[in-house]
Amino acid sequence: MSVLIAGAGIAGLTLGLSLHQAGVPFRIFEAVSELRPLGVGINLQPHAARELFELGLEAELDQVGLRTEEVAYFSAQGQLIWAEPRGMLAGYRWPQYSVHRGGLQMALRDALIARCGPDAIRTGAAVTGWQETSGGVRITLTNRKTGAALGHADGAVLIACDGINSTIRAQLHPDEGPAQWGGTMMWRGTTVGPRFRTGRTVSMTGTKQVKFVAYPIADIGEHSLINWIADIHMDDAYEWRQQDWNRQGRLEDFLPRFADWSFDWLDIPAVIRGAEAIYEYPMVDRDPLPRWTFGPVTLLGDAAHAMYPIGSNGASQGILDARVLARALRDKGPNANALEAYEEERRPPVNALVLANRGDGPDKILDIVASRAPDGFDDIDTVMSLEERETFAAGYKSIAGMDIEALNTRPSILGGA
Ligand SMILES: Cc1cc2nc3c(=O)[nH]c(=O)nc-3n(C[C@H](O)[C@H](O)[C@H](O)COP(=O)(O)OP(=O)(O)OC[C@H]3O[C@@H](n4cnc5c(N)ncnc54)[C@H](O)[C@@H]3O)c2cc1C
Repeated sequence: MSVLIAGAGIAGLTLGLSLHQAGVPFRIFEAVSELRPLGVGINLQPHAARELFELGLEAELDQVGLRTEEVAYFSAQGQLIWAEPRGMLAGYRWPQYSVHRGGLQMALRDALIARCGPDAIRTGAAVTGWQETSGGVRITLTNRKTGAALGHADGAVLIACDGINSTIRAQLHPDEGPAQWGGTMMWRGTTVGPRFRTGRTVSMTGTKQVKFVAYPIADIGEHSLINWIADIHMDDAYEWRQQDWNRQGRLEDFLPRFADWSFDWLDIPAVIRGAEAIYEYPMVDRDPLPRWTFGPVTLLGDAAHAMYPIGSNGASQGILDARVLARALRDKGPNANALEAYEEERRPPVNALVLANRGDGPDKILDIVASRAPDGFDDIDTVMSLEERETFAAGYKSIAGMDIEALNTRPSILGGA
């Protein structure tokens, strides 16, 4: 009996590829009728890149993304607070990648179809319910566009990889309600612009109130395709409408807040003005859950632990989930015991990360410096010592499982290349 997977996002596709590698039969059901390369940039941390390398996808990653070399934090006056090498330059055996989310999703889909055939993914089929059976689980499939019933499929277990608005999570935790908004709106876009700093730098500028994140996701001749996110904390009266990754944003709603952020290392207003398209999305997450697994059904990826996109860990954690679950299903068979073992290993650390990101994760350094030197500084060492900055940067890494030595020396989760 197969493992049934709801959702062909980055998490569901990585789970499919991992189960194929582990020799466990599976089938993916995806709600949309055609997967398209939606979204803008995301980062894959070395712990996630390692897993994709062990799936034999190094060349594909190099095709859809750039190997990140540096992370740098700047005050709202554009002054450097902290910079550190990233990926292999930091000593990891695997790179960090800055990639286009949709490009990565398409690369995973293509690899899955090449390895398992086109029947591995059924599109236009949302999982809208399930019931336990003597053999495991029977799912109900529906065409979301037409509402047409598409019948059922039987499997041993059901893995909900259906994202932040997971139908399956809502049924397992009926009292939870919608995703929670903490007050920050994000305007996102991509712009062809200058190569700044290393040409492979992720920059964070400002404070929690008004922040600009920028990093290149592709080289375009002498230039970079810069992925950027403008965060603004709104007042309580602001209505954030719905969560739609494709909702168009308007320049006038946020550009004025960045009007004088033209620095010698990057002209932020020019980057914003140069965008091909701008999208608006509320920064939402969900409370950590006390339980993911209910008999033959469990949650994975954003369905299990949607978190703020701070510290660049959402997709990376979904990839780790997929690898740990595939190993459990291989070793214990496709049954509830495997799901419980997966949850025991993954839920506590990921829940801690959701909460750390709510506290602004590694970006908190921006607010600490701004509170001590609101108008900028001549010498950062007089505001926050090097030792304090180093300790701060190391703290989040240990919560996020990004300790260099620990990652480099720990055995592979599932084996592979
Ligand atoms: C269209 C889109 C654009 C995004 N853009 C960005 C971005 O620009 N920046 C960023 O940081 N994050 C973005 N994200 C979120 C990011 O992809 C995730 O945080 C992360 O990759 C974890 O992925 P996931 O596979 O758990 O969930 P998701 O990427 O959300 O994938 C879930 C998948 O499940 C499908 N699905 C939903 N309900 C059902 C159902 N009932 N049955 C079957 N299938 C179902 C969805 O269509 C989707 O393909 C985006 C997500 C989506 C869906």
